[in-house]
Amino acid sequence: MIQEVEAKVLLSHVKQPDTWFGLKYNMNLYRGCQRQCIYCDSRSQCYRIENFRDLLVKANALDLLRQELARKRVKGTIGTGSMNDPYMPLEKSQNLTGRALQIIAQFRFPVHVITKSDLVLRDLETLRQINQVYAAVSFSLSTTDDDLARKLEPGAPSPSRRLQAMSQLAQAGIVTGVVMMPILPFITDGETAVRDIALQARKHGAQYVIPTFGMTLRDRQRAYYYAQLDRSFPGLRQRYRRHFGDQYYCSSPNARRLQDMFKEVCAELGLEMRMPVYQQEGARQLPLF
Ligand code: SF4
Repeated sequence: MIQEVEAKVLLSHVKQPDTWFGLKYNMNLYRGCQRQCIYCDSRSQCYRIENFRDLLVKANALDLLRQELARKRVKGTIGTGSMNDPYMPLEKSQNLTGRALQIIAQFRFPVHVITKSDLVLRDLETLRQINQVYAAVSFSLSTTDDDLARKLEPGAPSPSRRLQAMSQLAQAGIVTGVVMMPILPFITDGETAVRDIALQARKHGAQYVIPTFGMTLRDRQRAYYYAQLDRSFPGLRQRYRRHFGDQYYCSSPNARRLQDMFKEVCAELGLEMRMPVYQQEGARQLPLF
């Protein structure tokens, strides 16, 4: 089901200093996500999205964005892509993200997009304009294996397509890299598999890979994930239960080893493990970590 709704506010303030992406504001143009990744945290009850398959389109989003940006005194990075993919299939016909980026370009605000889609290339010219201030695009990748990704992220373009898109953004001078989240225990946490994410990222122009070595699991998200494990990875649910019980953060049993290895690989490849975030002119550069 796709439904239009009127939102009251579009940009939400990021209250804590955002150590990953340096965000000041968050923007969600849709609610719900067509990618249907089996591990998606946005299914959790705390986000109050009753049916994650239903899509809500914020019909007045662009008017709100114009009004809100005109009132902003503080210039800071606007992030999009944490609760849904701003380039999900519906975006092709709606062009809501594309039009929002044009408004952001007019107001000369910096932006950071997280996506799993090469549809972001449609907006390359707008991103170039925004990049006179700052534009960054991060691709989320949990594996470079296209066949495995089909089971994990059934509605998303393959990792190969994401990496190709990353190359083009890098060539256009856009800050780009990988958000390596989540890494799924017993599925995508092999040493070779994790190393390959760094290698492929580098090969395709990434400046950074932000790593994690585990995943979160809670309430509805866990129930959905386990049901999908039963379908595609028989026996794994039981292994998760034994290993993690009701834990919220489920770290790969290999996490420490993976972290050491990953640091070394990134150093060899000249890949950063954090992204270069927007700094306001004249602002003192503060270390984020
Ligand atoms: S793309 Fe992101 S928000 Fe959408 S289903 Fe996948 S993990 Fe969830």
